Amino acid sequence: MRNAIYPGSFDPVTLGHIDIIRRSASMFDSLVIGVLNNNAKTPLFSVENRVNMLKAVVSDMDNVSVEVFDGLTVDFAKQHDISVIVRGLRAVTDYEYEVQIAQSNRQVSGETIDTIFLTTSLKYSYLSSSLVKEYAKYGVIAPDTVPEVVADALRKEFNFQ
Ligand code: ADP
Repeated sequence: MRNAIYPGSFDPVTLGHIDIIRRSASMFDSLVIGVLNNNAKTPLFSVENRVNMLKAVVSDMDNVSVEVFDGLTVDFAKQHDISVIVRGLRAVTDYEYEVQIAQSNRQVSGETIDTIFLTTSLKYSYLSSSLVKEYAKYGVIAPDTVPEVVADALRKEFNFQ
């Protein structure tokens, strides 16, 4: 069995994340989406909300599950028999940070856990949760950025139609 984890804040999940989820789910026997609960950033959505939105969007994917975790990704991975971490790479700006994390994860796991990177689909390469939140603050949801369940939650959060 090849099990993978796709860790992140998912505050909130975007179509860019979903693209990575679909593509990586087809490469592994199982994929856990790990929603980080100990983020230094103050999230807009509670961890329960983030998990519920993710569960709604992956409900048609049989080998994908959603779990909350805090602490180190490698500890969670070891406990769940996971040997691969999936991350998405957008622009070159993601690269340095991601490589640093991937290398330390490999090192602290005793070289048992590797990270694979999927390059983002071109149409999502400038999409981020932060950008979506910034626009929503001003009552705008750009087309082709978030699933409907997230658009609804943003409208509710920022009080617009
Ligand atoms: P984190 O706080 O860990 O960066 P995010 O939820 O922002 O969590 O991102 C989780 C993962 O998804 C990261 O690997 C990030 O590079 C990737 N990602 C974010 N937005 C996109 C996108 N538009 N296309 C592809 N991958 C993305």
